[in-house]
Amino acid sequence: MAAILPPAMLGILGGGQLGRMFAVAAKTMGYRVAVLDPDENAPAAAFADRHIRAPYNDPAALRELADSCAAVTTEFENVNADAMRELARRTRVSPSGDCVAVAQDRIAEKAWINKAGLPTAPYLAIESVEDIQVDLAPYLPGILKTARLGYDGKGQVRVQTAAEARAAYANLGGQACVLEKMLDLQLEVSAIVTRVSSAQSAVFPVAENIHKNGILDESIVPARIAPALAKQAQEMARKLAEALDYVGVLAVEFFVLADDSLVVNEIAPRPHNSGHYTLTACLTDQFQQQVRAMCGLLPGRTDLLSPVVMVNLLGDVWKDNGHEPNWDVLAEAPNAQLHLYGKKQARPGRKMGHFNVMATSADEALDQARALKDTL
Ligand code: ADP
Ligand code: MG
Repeated sequence: MAAILPPAMLGILGGGQLGRMFAVAAKTMGYRVAVLDPDENAPAAAFADRHIRAPYNDPAALRELADSCAAVTTEFENVNADAMRELARRTRVSPSGDCVAVAQDRIAEKAWINKAGLPTAPYLAIESVEDIQVDLAPYLPGILKTARLGYDGKGQVRVQTAAEARAAYANLGGQACVLEKMLDLQLEVSAIVTRVSSAQSAVFPVAENIHKNGILDESIVPARIAPALAKQAQEMARKLAEALDYVGVLAVEFFVLADDSLVVNEIAPRPHNSGHYTLTACLTDQFQQQVRAMCGLLPGRTDLLSPVVMVNLLGDVWKDNGHEPNWDVLAEAPNAQLHLYGKKQARPGRKMGHFNVMATSADEALDQARALKDTL
């Protein structure tokens, strides 16, 4: 397929911070950008040439987006596989609706990961109440996760016994779930792959991710694991993208177990919070890769220019009554890059921004990043 070149209009479904960083990347390269998002204050709108304010599944709005754009992508996976399929009837779409459908449903996702020959935690797919009347011992103690619409640890219940698991399932209203065995994690890492075609893909360096309350807190790059293990994670991400015939940016989250083996946790059909370090520390960042892939351009170089740590800035940092944090030290730290998403309302757990710190080693960057966070 012919490459799409500037100043073509590119579309994105969703106008949150990922859509905003996509818009910045696209505009920087000379493309124009259209965003579909119902929120008049959508973070991406500030950088878009066109903001279609409508629900994500509004047929007329989807038609308008498709007809005004040479290609469309997405910034989230929840409830939009059908929207992507709808768009694909009128314009070029990546990733495909089928790939988004896999990523938005934990049951389909885990089945695909296993089908690609990669391991997941032992899990039980629960589509109806009969499915949970089996021996649950292989999955306990475990985590019951809703199959759909979970993010940042939402829609998850930790359970110790079969009775607890069944009660939790009932509490979730009987919606489709997976019961996943709780694994003993050494740490968590992620690998982000950009795939244009079989012959053309690039994987970013592996990030080590530290979560707090189920939400990403810090990403450390390079991950403090053996280089061979990092390489294995990158190859697994590539393999998954290949199995899905994926076009675009695909994020793959892994668990590293005590025996140094890797288990795939979940995938996201888009740039990922754990890839924000690429904005500072790679020649091509993950949003530029998203633009390139959707336009049929080759992915750019992904090597790491410097050890880096990304720290998320959640609404919790905005003191009482939404008082702005003290930005003075962080804003002028010479080796830090502050990035705020322009969200009006700070709420606990809400992703408001992040910052990246570069230093001579990952440990040094981590020390400096934590010290900077303490100044807020
Ligand atoms: P989300 O879609 O909310 O990111 P995840 O499935 O990634 O959901 O779970 C969030 C976090 O919960 C993970 O990053 C990990 O820290 C923890 N977690 C999830 N599943 C397991 C598991 N099977 N064993 C141990 N920890 C888990
Ligand atoms: Mg996750």
